[in-house]
Amino acid sequence: MTTIVLRGGLVVGATSSARGDVLIRDGHLDEVGESLAAPPGATVIDAEGCWVGPGFVDLHAHLREPGREEAETIESGARAAAVGGYSAIVAMPNTEPALDNAALVSYVLARGATTPIDVAVAGAITQGRGGTHLAPMAEMAALGVRLFTDDGIGVQDAAVMRRALSYAKPLGVRLAQHPEDEQLAAGGTMNEGAWSSRLGLIGRPALAEELMVLRDIELVRLTGCALHFMHLSTARSVALVLAAKREGLLVSCEVAPHHLTLDESVLATFDPLFKVHPPLRPRADVDALRASLVAGEIDAVATDHAPHAPELKDLPFDEAPAGMLGLEHAASLTFEALGAEGADERMFFSVMSRGPARIAQLRASDARPRHGAHGGSMTAGEDANVVVFDPRARWRASREDLQSRATNTPYDQRALRGRVRALVARGELVVSEGALR
Ligand SMILES: [Zn+2]
Repeated sequence: MTTIVLRGGLVVGATSSARGDVLIRDGHLDEVGESLAAPPGATVIDAEGCWVGPGFVDLHAHLREPGREEAETIESGARAAAVGGYSAIVAMPNTEPALDNAALVSYVLARGATTPIDVAVAGAITQGRGGTHLAPMAEMAALGVRLFTDDGIGVQDAAVMRRALSYAKPLGVRLAQHPEDEQLAAGGTMNEGAWSSRLGLIGRPALAEELMVLRDIELVRLTGCALHFMHLSTARSVALVLAAKREGLLVSCEVAPHHLTLDESVLATFDPLFKVHPPLRPRADVDALRASLVAGEIDAVATDHAPHAPELKDLPFDEAPAGMLGLEHAASLTFEALGAEGADERMFFSVMSRGPARIAQLRASDARPRHGAHGGSMTAGEDANVVVFDPRARWRASREDLQSRATNTPYDQRALRGRVRALVARGELVVSEGALR
């Protein structure tokens, strides 16, 4: 295996940061300290001025395989993740067919193992994501699945959700909810409010999200099972989860980069690139989510990377599918949301790596039958999953440069700050100078 020295960066540990070198050998962090000698034949990466921390972990990537390989494959999604600085991603189960049994989970795990990063799998909560009959979670958990979700849709029936939580608890796994009440959101294509009235589009009210968050908090209280809320988009949703945490309930939450950076006014273009569920919200919600992120109230930034084939996003706004790309720009957008130059580097790695690794049970302290350890504290002996992020970089997002098979990014030509310079995953240099090797 390659010997690598990351030279002179700010090494971001779990509790403190210090300038130094990181020596990577035989798949592990061999030494972390000042002025380390480079062994003969080592690849030396200049990390001067950069943040060096645990590789990012994405809790929420739609890889579209099996079933929609024209939009993305496990291989192309993993490449997009790598240039985005991710050493591990969790593949969502809303494929065709849905990942609701051990055979399909095994297939995705095997395909993921051929990529340079760790591809973990989230299994479906209900059979076919139909919302009525529980999927065989135990057989999927036996393969190492630690997160279960029907994402794309929330589990609408409270009795089914209660049963799922009760069933999941002894398995030691976590359920993840896409919180939207489909009846309240029915027919909606954007946030319900002044803009939807002005544009003549049917809205999805904030209440559709908040009501399910409220319901599920009570189900967690009842069952004692851990629950993760996906892509929270309103100030009130985050406040509800924060209050539940303070009561000691086992809840966690993520926000998506688009909800931290874009507000509903961009829908005035009627461009389906901006269509997403839950929808982009008013500026006040965007500002509140950013404030919560800075305050450490959000456990993870998760991409909700949702590739779509071009012909689908070329449909009229009403008919186009919801969802946008996320993996390749999430780190820069999170850096921006944390205040760019003013961003706290430990908070950055907390929401991009350590928080999501904890929720996905991908840390060294977790039982991981198939994957390496992620979200580490940058000390000797850890698995070598490390990212080098340059907070001084300024660049422009371009649809032309994407590794993803799809091109439905809402950030084309957006000026970005901070960029992934290098990624070491499973001990190998996967990205250097911002490009795949
Ligand atoms: Zn979702």
